[in-house]
Amino acid sequence: MKAIQVRRAGGPEVLELADLPKPSPGPGQVLIRVEAAGINFADILYVAGEYLVRTRYPTVPGMEFAGVIEALGEGVEGLQPGARVAALGGSGAFAEYAVVPARSVLPLPPQMSAVEAAAFPVSYFTAYFALRTQARAQPGEWALIQAAAGALGTASIQIAKQMGLRVIALASSEEKLALCRRLGADVTLLNTQDNLLEAVRNATEGKGVDILMEVVGGAGFAQSLKMLAYRGRLLVIGSASREMAQMYPVGLMKGNQSVIGVWLTPFLSDPAEMQAAVAFLMPLVASGQIRPVVGERFKLEEAAEAFRFVLSRKNTGKVILQP
Ligand code: NDP
Repeated sequence: MKAIQVRRAGGPEVLELADLPKPSPGPGQVLIRVEAAGINFADILYVAGEYLVRTRYPTVPGMEFAGVIEALGEGVEGLQPGARVAALGGSGAFAEYAVVPARSVLPLPPQMSAVEAAAFPVSYFTAYFALRTQARAQPGEWALIQAAAGALGTASIQIAKQMGLRVIALASSEEKLALCRRLGADVTLLNTQDNLLEAVRNATEGKGVDILMEVVGGAGFAQSLKMLAYRGRLLVIGSASREMAQMYPVGLMKGNQSVIGVWLTPFLSDPAEMQAAVAFLMPLVASGQIRPVVGERFKLEEAAEAFRFVLSRKNTGKVILQP
């Protein structure tokens, strides 16, 4: 089968098209023919050897995809060959076939296309766990979303609005901000403007934001802390700048503020948390109230070009690879 193989740490240049054996499902696993895979910023970090889990080379990257079940491993119940599903794994999705544990498979609502389904799991589950589980968002609160036109950002706007939050969306171009408004953002601001802190304070009647989804990190982190309201929660979700951030923890005391980490992976093996997330998300998907924003599509063999596209900050929504 065709697959994107990575044999050493690096940037887009280390993504190679390879002919690898088709995997077979072990006990408790499912073999899926991949129709579309989502590219996440985490895939870029994983290939570079900079992710939260250690990358063991050679590897086939790709953590989310949609496709059709081809075969079931021993002991798998409740799934049928031929079913259209989405799946969430650690790696292996940038290929014609992928094997995942049966518990990582999500049945698809019939109206959802493969590309939409491939854009769904990582961003929407992360947005849910960030806002509901970690930040304990309450209706009427202000949430500031960074990189709001990206994959996680567009999902987060939709989830925040479903939770009754008021949203300030930040992005780097007017075109991106227009998309954020179409998705329901209440206030949109260019992240390049000089007086960003003042603009956020003005939008919130001088109070600041209750929740801030920090995905850029680095030098801007200090300013993010200043944007928090009394009892505000800053969610550390990513560091797209790939730079270290500094903070003065004692500064949190005066405003009873919190800095909270968010990582999707541990939640995936927590059945109670997953059940709650599925119960929240899937009815919204089925009724069309939330709908993944699909960005550019690339062929599997164009994986390096697709990575460069994401790194150049040109994407809106989720960039897709299709075998
Ligand atoms: P996006 O589609 O959002 O693409 C990344 C965006 O980040 C860019 O479009 C850009 O938006 C912004 N950005 C800011 N600085 C940089 C930079 N130096 N280089 C590249 N992009 C930059 O990607 P994802 O939705 O996949 O991920 C967004 C963030 O969320 C990442 O930090 C990712 O690691 C994190 N994440 C974390 C998860 C978790 O479990 N903790 C799960 C999913 C995502 P703009 O130009 O508008 O500023």
